[in-house]
Amino acid sequence: MTQTFDAIICGGGLAGSAAGFSLARAGYSVAILDRALFPRKKLCGGLLTWKSIQLLEHLFGETPGSLTKAGAINFASNRYAIHTLATPLAEGELSFPFHFVDRTVFDAHLLTRAEAAGATVFQGCKVTACDPAKGIITCHNGDTFQGAFVIGADGANSVVRKSFPDVDRDRMRRFMAPAIEIHLDAKDFPRPVEYPELYVGFLEAGYGWVFPNHNSVIVGTCGLRMNNSNIYQLFKEFLDFFNIDSAATSDLRGHPLPYGNYLENPVSGVTMLAGDAGGFVEPLLGEGIFFALCTGMYAGEAVAHGLATKTSPGPTYTHRLHQQIMPELKASNRLRWALFKGMQWIGPSSLKLLVNATNTQLAEMVHGMRSYSWLRKKHWDFCKR
Ligand SMILES: Cc1cc2nc3c(=O)[nH]c(=O)nc-3n(C[C@H](O)[C@H](O)[C@H](O)COP(=O)(O)OP(=O)(O)OC[C@H]3O[C@@H](n4cnc5c(N)ncnc54)[C@H](O)[C@@H]3O)c2cc1C
Repeated sequence: MTQTFDAIICGGGLAGSAAGFSLARAGYSVAILDRALFPRKKLCGGLLTWKSIQLLEHLFGETPGSLTKAGAINFASNRYAIHTLATPLAEGELSFPFHFVDRTVFDAHLLTRAEAAGATVFQGCKVTACDPAKGIITCHNGDTFQGAFVIGADGANSVVRKSFPDVDRDRMRRFMAPAIEIHLDAKDFPRPVEYPELYVGFLEAGYGWVFPNHNSVIVGTCGLRMNNSNIYQLFKEFLDFFNIDSAATSDLRGHPLPYGNYLENPVSGVTMLAGDAGGFVEPLLGEGIFFALCTGMYAGEAVAHGLATKTSPGPTYTHRLHQQIMPELKASNRLRWALFKGMQWIGPSSLKLLVNATNTQLAEMVHGMRSYSWLRKKHWDFCKR
């Protein structure tokens, strides 16, 4: 028997919870289907920028204080550093701290908030097929669901996206970066890590990171496969640089990160894509948490508006994406290639010059107070400021 809802959301990660919360709060019946049982692990550095904090407060009424109390935020730092493997490039103070979340706790917390708002959550429910025109979803156990509208929030390997007839699959694949990350006990890292450190220049079109957490250190790399023939080997060399024995790290895992493959039109029939499923990740630093929450909220609000007015939500969603999100992703993509080419042709001094000349403004750009487009002041349509 097919279960029917106003909206079906495939994936109960950040994009799915934001969409589900928006719809349930507006009074619509909504099902969130996720293949995992929560709390589940998600490979991620967990860095939250200022705009993520603003959005979490706007949508869920969550603050750094409430998220810390819930065990989701476990570290904050108002400093950062950028290095090559040979030399420091820049270091600075931030006007607003970077917060770090434990994704296992954070994702489960937001999914619970969506459920408490009225969404019906089906865990252990793996979506195997989607009919984007009819809004029919089939799961691994044969269960079927039908929604007036469907939101695909099922991550980088989205089954819902694969059902779209017009997606450029070759572009999707080329700009999907393998990201590898390990979480170490702080005592197993050779020195204390007190603020986030970025490492550039040892892989092309990508970078490495060392992030502090409460009792742990996260070490990771991401880079486009077409520019880096052996990402796994580069990651091992990155670990060697810190004198971490990669053979001793039992926890070595990778996950695809959309890295410049955002879809201009993530709508097909009655179905739309949000978060990693639509490639909505900022292509310079790989920030995806904000873009998953924001596109999830936009998709949920567009569907709620469509249900209320009996109109198609696709144009509302894409209009908002093109007003708010796409200009940032496109400008960040241009900056990414300019910086990587600058590093290749001129060397690390090009990045050093840029960072030192525009230090505060660059930090504000990463936080979302300024745009990736010419560092102009950025106004987010959900934000009071
Ligand atoms: C190594 C690494 C480090 C990162 N670090 C950062 C960082 O520090 N800061 C930042 O902002 N971003 C970071 N990102 C990016 C960020 O993690 C993602 O952009 C973000 O998680 C996207 O959220 P989402 O909800 O779209 O997808 P996900 O978080 O992947 O959630 C998708 C959900 O869909 C479910 N699902 C998948 N397939 C199916 C299916 N067939 N049926 C049912 N359910 C399904 C999954 O179980 C999952 O719960 C990082 C990514 C990686 C890989």
